[in-house]
Parts: sequence; C-alpha cells; structure tokens
Amino acid sequence: LLAYAVKELFPEAQVTIGPVIENGFYYDFSFHRPFTPDDLVALEKRMAELAKKDEPVTRTVMPRDQAVQFFKDQGEHYKAEIIASIPQGEDVSLYTEGKFTDLCRGPHVPSTGKLKVFKLMKLAGAYWRGDSKNEMLQRIYGTAWLKKEDQDAYLHMLEEAEKRDHRRLGRHLDLFHFQDEAPGLVFWHPKGWSIWQTVEQYMRKVYQDEGYHEVKAPQILDRGLWEKSGHWDNYKENMFTTESENRSYALKPMNCPGHVQIFNSGLHSYRELPLRYGEFGQCHRNEPSGALHGLMRVRGFTQDDGHIFCTEDQIQSEVASFDKAVRAVYTDFGFSEVDVKLALRPAKRVGDDAIWDKAEEALRGALRASGQTWEELPGEGAFYGPKIEYHLKDSIGRSWQCGTMQVDFSMPARLGAEYVAEDNARKVPVMLHRAIVGSLERFIGILIENHAGNMPAWLAPTQAVVLNISENSAAYAQQVQQLLKKQGFRVDADLRNEKITYKIREHALQKLPYLLVVGDKERESNTVAVRARGGVDLGVMPLDAFVARLQQDISQKVGPELN
Ligand code: ZN
Repeated sequence: LLAYAVKELFPEAQVTIGPVIENGFYYDFSFHRPFTPDDLVALEKRMAELAKKDEPVTRTVMPRDQAVQFFKDQGEHYKAEIIASIPQGEDVSLYTEGKFTDLCRGPHVPSTGKLKVFKLMKLAGAYWRGDSKNEMLQRIYGTAWLKKEDQDAYLHMLEEAEKRDHRRLGRHLDLFHFQDEAPGLVFWHPKGWSIWQTVEQYMRKVYQDEGYHEVKAPQILDRGLWEKSGHWDNYKENMFTTESENRSYALKPMNCPGHVQIFNSGLHSYRELPLRYGEFGQCHRNEPSGALHGLMRVRGFTQDDGHIFCTEDQIQSEVASFDKAVRAVYTDFGFSEVDVKLALRPAKRVGDDAIWDKAEEALRGALRASGQTWEELPGEGAFYGPKIEYHLKDSIGRSWQCGTMQVDFSMPARLGAEYVAEDNARKVPVMLHRAIVGSLERFIGILIENHAGNMPAWLAPTQAVVLNISENSAAYAQQVQQLLKKQGFRVDADLRNEKITYKIREHALQKLPYLLVVGDKERESNTVAVRARGGVDLGVMPLDAFVARLQQDISQKVGPELN
C-alpha cells in the first residue's frame, strides 16, 4: 500500500524492497530528491484513500524471465534485478492492487480495505542490497495494526521509550559519555562506573555460587589462533587487527578461544568435568558506525562470559542449572517476564549435520526437562553451534535478548582441547558458551531505560544525600554522611550555602533514592528527615531506623518505591 501510494504521488520513484519487520514494515525507494516529513503526511493520506477503495489484491504467478521483463517494461530496474537473481526456471508470484503490481511471496490481505490502522513513522537512508558501495536509497518506516487501541499503545510505548532513552539519561545523571575520537566506546563517569561495579560484583557472586573459576585471558591474540578457531574465516570483517614485529594479531571479539587455551594448559581428567570458567571478558567488534547506538550497540563491551567444558552426558544438567540461575538473576534485576528461544543452525557454519543434530537435540532435551516452553528460530544459531536465547520484557513492554546458552561441538576439537576419559582414552570435551546479562554495557543501558533512571537503591550510584538546612547543622550533616559511609552505603553530603528547597529540587532531579534533610531539630535529636524518591515525605526518624530501611531496600533489591 505504501509503495502504491508512492508510485501514485511520485511516479518517477523506483520501488526496491519492502519487508515486514517487528511492529510494522519499511520500504526502500530510489528517488531523485529526499522525501520530506510533508511527503510522509501526503503519502499516509493517499494510503488511507487507496485503502478505502477496498480494491481486491490478486496473485499472479509468472516464470522468472517473464517477470523480469514485466518490471523492465515498467521501468522498475531494481525489481528486475532482484527477480533476475532468483534461480532460473523458478516461478515468481506477483500481487496486484488497483494499478500497482509488486513482487511478493505473499500471502496478502484479500483487499486493501482490510488495511485500516497504520501510520508512517520515519525516514532513513539505506544502501541498495545493504552494501555501502551501492546507491543510497530512501527508507520509509511504518507501523500497522489490527486494532486502533494496539497502535495507540505502541505509539505510547515509543513516547515512553524516548523519555527514558539511556543516552539522554546518561548525560543528565552524569553516568557516561561518548566522543568522536572513540566511536562506539564508552567513557564511564564515576556514577556510571558505580552501577557497573555493582552489576559486576553481583555477577561475580553468581560465578562463585554456580561453581565457576574466574579467569582473565589476553586482549590481543595471534591471527593463527583465530584461524584455528574459525573466527578468521567466519568473523574477520568484525575483528580489529593489528601488527607487531611482522606478526598479525586480532583484538578478541569473543572470549572462547582464550578460555580453551587456559583449559589446554593442563591435563584434565573426566573427574574434573564439568569445568567452568567465567570472565568479565572485554571484547571488541568492528560494528559499522551506522549501527552504533549508545550503550546498546558498541564496539567495545564486556560480557559475563562463561565456558563450561563437559561431557555430552552433562549437557542437559548444565543447561538446566544455568536456566535456574538465569531466572534468579533476572528477577533480582527487576525483570519478571522472560521468553525463551532456541536458535538453530545458520547457513554459514562449522561442523557437519550430524553434530548439529546432536547439539540441537541436547538443548531441546534440557528445555523439556526444566519444563519450558520455547520458540524455535531456524537459521539464527551461532556459526559453531545452536543456542538458547533469553529475552527479557522491560517495564514498557519491549523485549531484549540478554542471556544465552550455546552448545559447541566444534571449537574444542579445532583448538585441540581434550581430557582423559574413564578408560584412559583422550576425548574431546563439549564446550558450552553462556552469558546471563550479556554485554554489561548494553545491560546497564537496558536497566537505565527499564527504571527510567530511577535505579533501585541497591544499584543507585548515590543511595542518599544529606542536606543541611543551615550552617548550624553542617557538621551534623557530615557526621551522618560519615556514619552511613562507614556502614557501606553510598552517601553524599551537600553542604552548600543554598536554600534547602533549591537543594532538594536539584537532588530530586538526579533521581536519588533518598534525600536526608537535617536542621537544628534533627541535630539535637540525632534524627534525619527522610524524603524518598518521588517527593514522598517519610517524616523524621532516628538514623538507625533509616539504616534499617535502606538495608531492607538493598537486600530485597527494590525500593524506595514499592515495586
Ligand atoms: Zn564463547
């Protein structure tokens, strides 16, 4: 319908491709001038008019070459090129509505009148066939729904998402910044690094509780190792490389080969398996600059990355206990809804089909055993093995893939890992790759947006600030701050000679969990006047009572709001 409207209003525009995406669609056009926001308004209006005509949508099947000629005759060179790349001898299907015919596999609605709820969203540039050497096309994004209420809810969610954009909050709360000299790499400020540290220390505890040994492998490794691991052939375009003394190296894009080196440095018996290594592994991937997006898509990131060396028989129980740990972690971070997906073999992969069959079946078995329901995603596995993906729902209904558990029957053999089996024979272990939060950078971005910057007390960089009303209570304010710091809380004091209302407003904007106001009365009675985030006045209380409250927030990982 969008392409139809474009051809009506701008007959010289050429159509290219227009797939369905989550919550809507886009269509790429070639046109001699940039489309404008006014064009979008006009197009949306024309789409509504065309939809109202309720023209039937009809399907025609044509031999490939005839279809190429059909689009050439219409002057649609991009369509002709796409169809020409379909294998010869195949039939292609075309759909026609009114005066407009497009190539499509279908199926389609029976008539345009079925299209009632849609909206054009935005314009962007996109290269023909996704290749930066090709012509830049214009992409129009739209959203389409069955019911008006659903579209309204979606648009409301987008508005909310914009308000809580972590890049904006990152600046406002002084958490981190990016700059041109380091595209896709984060400068963490003290407050942002405090959140980082809390997440890392929490995840370190998970490593300990789940029986992992924490390790640290080098950042830069010889190209030869990446050739052996398969990364050089399958992942080279994403790797940063460097040279020294006529040797070439790559910055690690993944931590796995490093962990195999640690495993290989000693002789292992079957009795040691499963052997679990965990690392806060810093990786670099050369993402296209156009794909970078705040903390969500970066070039340098750190994963809570673990690798389990085990036998085939141990896969199921390892996956099952990982599943349990994942769920506990997400609950602690405030995510209660988790969807599980199983990504199966991709086109570009290492290992033969028998190995893939075995790996995919092992993951299904573990999910079945832990009573899961899951969705399968054909073609979306890693090149070395299938994977389970954990998708979190955030507080405005968006879904984020964070955790992953991947079976790998290939890399240990490629890198020469082995153990001594019960019968004294040397055997190759299975390797499981797993992460719970994934990229810490991205996870912190998700946390910031999920909480709209109102970090729960246990994660908040500053949990409370003490504000003195006048000079008389400055020493007492400092004393309160010191007492709380000594007990391990992250507490600031603002002793500036400013009006208390001014100081309260300023710190409230920083979204701190608690503001502690002290004046003469509080100093004399050894109390604090407590204001919880959101302007909730909790009244005057003894310092001990406040400590108990904050401790409870932290241990329950909620608060000050009652989540
Ligand atoms: Zn790995």
